[in-house]
Amino acid sequence: MSRIAFIGLGNMGGPMAANLLKAGHTLHVFDLSADAVAQAVTHGATAANTAIDAVQDAEVVISMLPASRHVEGLYLGDAGLLRHIAEGALVIDCSTIAPASAQKVARAAGERGLAMIDAPVSGGTAGAAAGTLTFIVGGEGDALERARPLLASMGKNIFHVGANGAGQVAKLCNNMALGVIMAVTGEAIALGAAHGLDPTVLSQMMAVSTARSWATEVCNPWPGVLENAPASRGYTGGFGNDLMLKDLGLAAEAAMGVGASIPLGELARNLYAMNSQAGNGGLDFSSVVKLVAKTP
Ligand code: NAD
Repeated sequence: MSRIAFIGLGNMGGPMAANLLKAGHTLHVFDLSADAVAQAVTHGATAANTAIDAVQDAEVVISMLPASRHVEGLYLGDAGLLRHIAEGALVIDCSTIAPASAQKVARAAGERGLAMIDAPVSGGTAGAAAGTLTFIVGGEGDALERARPLLASMGKNIFHVGANGAGQVAKLCNNMALGVIMAVTGEAIALGAAHGLDPTVLSQMMAVSTARSWATEVCNPWPGVLENAPASRGYTGGFGNDLMLKDLGLAAEAAMGVGASIPLGELARNLYAMNSQAGNGGLDFSSVVKLVAKTP
């Protein structure tokens, strides 16, 4: 069993931390939100007053923060955690961030003799709660082997895709496809509904036909189709529109870096930007359907 510092207990980090506690690990946790910390404490975690307090004596440090600036802010600089993490500890960042940021932080960790992997996840909040996430890992194989038992307590698939930063590139490829698929699935259901079709029957048909996807089967964008989908609880508690917007911006940057063309990814980035400007930035990204339909 490991002594773990867990930083970032939001929609994803909260349930991931709960699964590590369930597996018997000791967790010191920190989040800027006192409510998020209190929730983790109910699962058996010990609250730390600061991130630096959380990492004292930790054998493993796990972070699950929104974006590159939060991760760089947490680890780097004079007040950064890399100066406080015990020698020999393993650092696992599960946030989805720019590949260049992941490489920068991993390099700084390496200079301090700390092994670090990027291990962004796929599977959504339902996967985080069920412990069925997919981990997409960039970094040294040895560091991944040390992390593997912990990742296995939070997920069921682990892919080693390359060196530091590669996990982020692969994650961005996945999310770019997801962003496009969600937007077009919403459009398709809205089209059917405008013709008087029952969105539930339409979705059930699509879920066993060639338009089958996570958007039709698990996170259906139409309210009432799937009881547990964010759409059926006012688009709350899932994967925020602005997080998808961030990922599509990172995909666009990654594409520019190698001269790749991503016409649909760019179009999708604009759709999620429009949805954000419409005031839906904090809602689940499936709320992008609101751009094309008045949902019930
Ligand atoms: P969230 O906004 O729900 O949670 C982020 C948490 O980090 C918040 O509780 C916030 O208070 C905390 N935080 C921010 N800065 C901090 C700091 N400096 N110190 C301590 N705590 C800090 O976000 P989320 O949905 O949990 O997503 C986290 C990451 O996982 C993002 O990079 C996102 O892109 C990725 N992701 C999310 C999903 C999803 O379905 N929500 C799925 C896969 C990947």
